[in-house]
Amino acid sequence: MEYYELNMRFPEFKSRAVTLSMDDGWKFDRQMIEVLDRYEIKCTFNLNAGSIEEEKTADYIWHGGRIPYEEIAEAYKNHEIASHTYTHPQLAFLDMPGVAYQIIKDREVLEEKTGRIVEGLAYPFGLSESKGMIDCIEKCGIRYGRTTVSTRNFNIPFDYLRWHPTCHMFDSKFDELVEKFFSSDDIKRPEKTKAKLFFIWGHSYEYENKWDSLEQMCEKIGNRENVWYATNMEIIDYISAYRTLRRSVNGKIIYNPTNIDVFVAVGKENVLIKKGETVVLK
Ligand SMILES: [Zn+2]
Repeated sequence: MEYYELNMRFPEFKSRAVTLSMDDGWKFDRQMIEVLDRYEIKCTFNLNAGSIEEEKTADYIWHGGRIPYEEIAEAYKNHEIASHTYTHPQLAFLDMPGVAYQIIKDREVLEEKTGRIVEGLAYPFGLSESKGMIDCIEKCGIRYGRTTVSTRNFNIPFDYLRWHPTCHMFDSKFDELVEKFFSSDDIKRPEKTKAKLFFIWGHSYEYENKWDSLEQMCEKIGNRENVWYATNMEIIDYISAYRTLRRSVNGKIIYNPTNIDVFVAVGKENVLIKKGETVVLK
């Protein structure tokens, strides 16, 4: 009996995706977004509502300050807003009520101010785990948590709450990674090609006085034909839909119970499994 091996593709059968994640909600985000939008690159911006609040009465403002509440919905309209906790503590030092407060309070304020649902998280100072912490975060409705651990690979994540990015935007190996990401050595055996994700993180203030380097990065990774540009949550939604596909034991019958169209490759064939539909392979 033949077995039908399935390979995930991104929307429109693209085999590559790029996503960005920027922390803290600095005013420099605006300048960054102006560049990203020109290259159709999507980003997730991780905000600390409590830090925005604190700035109203602070004696000293870091990195030119943060985008105020009244402006965040408009400033980030083309991108995702995610949580970075309420006041940016090291979560591993808190007890569970403290962790829950940091997540729920941040979500509540950001959701109230933007009218959006906020279910993504970037860990302040990266991920340092205390016992039960990830469980607690998940119970607060968080669907993914981005760390600061560079994998320098393009793997699709399995553990969404310990989602390690490919690299920081100023990684010394950035150019090598770009070259590897776009290399076409997989073209010889397209049926074996795995979908690749390039996941870059950083802070917009790091570009202060060197906006040219953002432009250069975008030239390298933006406006490419075979690339899906998506926010962190769009990536999670999509790969979750792919993993929710139901299949017969030999893989021949595929049912998509989700509300997202899923694109796959079966051998050399591209197959679209539309939302709610069943496909029987030939
Ligand atoms: Zn931060």
